[in-house]
Amino acid sequence: MMINISEKNFEKYSRQIMMEKIGISGQKKIMKSSICIIGCGGLGTTTAQYLAMTGVGKILLIDFDNIELSNLNRQISFLEKDIGENKATILKKNILKINAELDVSIIKKKITRRNINLFLEKSKFIIDCSDNFETRFLINEYCFKKKKILVSAALQNFDVQVSSFKAWASKKNPCYECIFPKFSDGNILNCDQMGIVSPIAGFGGIMQAITVVNIILGCDQKIFRELIIFDGFSREMKKIKVEKNVKCKICKY
Ligand SMILES: [Zn+2]
Repeated sequence: MMINISEKNFEKYSRQIMMEKIGISGQKKIMKSSICIIGCGGLGTTTAQYLAMTGVGKILLIDFDNIELSNLNRQISFLEKDIGENKATILKKNILKINAELDVSIIKKKITRRNINLFLEKSKFIIDCSDNFETRFLINEYCFKKKKILVSAALQNFDVQVSSFKAWASKKNPCYECIFPKFSDGNILNCDQMGIVSPIAGFGGIMQAITVVNIILGCDQKIFRELIIFDGFSREMKKIKVEKNVKCKICKY
């Protein structure tokens, strides 16, 4: 697909194009990219808005949930008047205000083993902004099998964790389940049962958007063997090396 940057877009994205690390060729890569955001909550709203601002070409938003009053402390795209509306619908409306050229589609359904292939088939990047482990494990398995790049973040209280996965590309790269194995008793806690301070959600979303831009621009492949942990209470950020679990049921060869 050939992309020409119009005069208007040249000005709009001039702060990116002027950078040596991006330039015209990098901006074209960004504009050609196709991204799926699963979950339009605290992480998804921020990730979608920043990716829309960078000028990505296509975004698919998936969320079956409606906006509630208790979401408004962290889900930055939503206002009180939106309560009761579907999250993906409102987020689509708002990111089109940021970038009218963006090709945005929405799916107002829960991702299941039955529909995942149909829904995610056309996206190269899958951003997991879901709030439960059942969905996270399903997305990881799908991304490994279908060779999709997975970017994942998790939030809890003052903490953010961000990582990206391409386990199918190298025997050294772990998958999500290598570093977050399923508990043997099957007991899993959902994220909405844990507390969260407002700006931490935004920070997680921003970190995901930065990660996607890095990968689009062809950054060092070490990114797929890293886990970034930010503790917002001590203001400490760490980068941990992660490895493949040779016993992992998903990505073992
Ligand atoms: Zn694995």
